Amino acid sequence: MKAGAAEALSAGEHQGAERALDVERVREDFPILKQKVHGKPLVYLDNAATSQKPVTVIEAEERFYREYNSNIHRGVHQLSERATKAYEDARVKIQHFLNAGEAREIVFVRGTTEAINLVAAAYGRKNVQAGDEILITAMEHHSNIVPWQILCEEKGARLRVAPVNDRGEMIFEEFEKLLNSRTRLVSVTHVSNVLGTINPVREIVEAAHRMNVPVLVDGAQAAPHLKVDVRELDCDLYAMSSHKIFGPTGIGVLYGKARLLEAMPPYQGGGDMISSVSFEKTIYNVIPYKFEAGTPNIAATIGLGAAIDYINQLGLDNVAAYEHELLEYATEALSGIPGVRMVGTARQKASVISFVLDGIHAHDVGTVLDQEGIDSKCRPPRGPRWPSIIRRRRSTGWWRASKR
Ligand code: PMP
Repeated sequence: MKAGAAEALSAGEHQGAERALDVERVREDFPILKQKVHGKPLVYLDNAATSQKPVTVIEAEERFYREYNSNIHRGVHQLSERATKAYEDARVKIQHFLNAGEAREIVFVRGTTEAINLVAAAYGRKNVQAGDEILITAMEHHSNIVPWQILCEEKGARLRVAPVNDRGEMIFEEFEKLLNSRTRLVSVTHVSNVLGTINPVREIVEAAHRMNVPVLVDGAQAAPHLKVDVRELDCDLYAMSSHKIFGPTGIGVLYGKARLLEAMPPYQGGGDMISSVSFEKTIYNVIPYKFEAGTPNIAATIGLGAAIDYINQLGLDNVAAYEHELLEYATEALSGIPGVRMVGTARQKASVISFVLDGIHAHDVGTVLDQEGIDSKCRPPRGPRWPSIIRRRRSTGWWRASKR
């Protein structure tokens, strides 16, 4: 990592978020932010869709291809050993990032979407029968809706949806009412990508476990903003994407409690997920390799490891504190604009901001902002919970200085 950001942090240890995170210096770590868009300095607010990459991540991937590109877990030659070590080191970094008990509980996948599909396919194939139920909430991303619809359709099972209130919070009593002896899995988002709502995952897990139901948490939007501790949450499965935490695209993580992963059948068949193959019988590899069929995205996994190093050096607590300041600043500033209506006002909220602008289509707002060099997400409603409103969403990244 470049000296800049890490040094900038140490100065502000006890002095509040603004000091702890010297945003102007952190911005220097992101080459993409140095450009102009339509002649204006780029302001990137679309972090909920994907984050930008610090130079250390870009260089880690490049170094792999320049210096030790080779396949992993196969060759005994030096390049392969180096690649395997870097790949497995990334697994240990993620283990510590999520505070998982063991590295073998970390499965590399393409992203949150694939992690959820893996669980739907592997856990669902074995454990879900006709008449069973999967329980989600009304604030889920499509990635945490559609895999369950596919599974339910195949199995004759039923998808149940816990409602949310007008603030954008899951109604806990309704969720509890929907939990029953037919529920085979609860799958909830940790942080809503549209509303910013932070779900009470610990309480959700406790309620589900009282009914012996395992819980999968979609952590795509939580991992960039909160310190995630899977053992503290006691969730059974946790999914996240590298590209939302400053890592490369095409790589993500499924954490799973070892016992649960061991009991699940494989997701895909192929190389590396087997310990022996014959035409009569194949013995599967141990976890996590049982779920990592074929040559993985080695370069991106190593890049993800570099992203974790980067976040650790910044300090996720510093990032979270600074983002909280930005969230409050932006919420207040936007609320004061006539015609702007905030969507998602949960009491526990991460730095995702959605709003509607009365009488103006989301695409028009996006086009005007783009002319100002501001990249943000704009789209008309596609989610089931907010059918009649036009959504404008911005996710404040921590490099977005409040004064700008
Ligand atoms: N869940 C949530 C809450 C998300 O915000 C996203 C990405 N927008 C996903 C799942 C899917 O993540 P990916 O596209 O990286 O698989």
